[in-house]
Amino acid sequence: MRLVLIGPPGAGKGTQAARLAEAYSVPAISTGDIFRANVKGETALGKRAQEYMSVGALVPDEVTNAMVKDRLGHDDLDAGFLLDGYPRNPEQAVELDGMLAELGVALDAVLEITAGTEEVTKRLLNRARLEGRVDDTEDVIRKRLEVYVESTTPVTAFYDGRGILVRVDGIGDVDHVTSRILAALDAR
Ligand code: AMP
Repeated sequence: MRLVLIGPPGAGKGTQAARLAEAYSVPAISTGDIFRANVKGETALGKRAQEYMSVGALVPDEVTNAMVKDRLGHDDLDAGFLLDGYPRNPEQAVELDGMLAELGVALDAVLEITAGTEEVTKRLLNRARLEGRVDDTEDVIRKRLEVYVESTTPVTAFYDGRGILVRVDGIGDVDHVTSRILAALDAR
């Protein structure tokens, strides 16, 4: 299973990605997690990424694309993978196409988890209290949601045009959302 997960910040992508990775026995690759690990480890990549993450902007494509290309080159992806948080703009989607073509594989589906602005803002502010993520302040949340609408929404249209987009409502109990996703992917 080769899957991309798209959804606004706070839609529950990370949680669902972990569950789907387990269900399909494939690694979940989260660009946000890789960036955060680099920030924590104070690597050069982390220092560069942090400038953008702290204001809710996208890390420049050349940095992000190179990081994903490197990860997709590892030899643990024969059974597939689940990309969480990439691609996030049409340019990255085109870049991913090239990487997959080079590897001789194709995406099976792109899952969009939907959730309204009010709900995700509430969830993110709550997560800020629980996890203390630096990019979960109200200003940065607003910016991340803007970036999602402007840059990432067109990516869903890109894959919809290709007939591989699966859209699932991300509102409700976490287990229900997981069942909904698995059923929608099964029904393809
Ligand atoms: P996430 O955990 O997916 O919400 O990502 C947290 C932050 O990491 C984002 O707000 C961006 O600054 C950065 N980031 C994650 N994925 C990407 C990507 N595909 N392109 C650019 N920046 C990204």
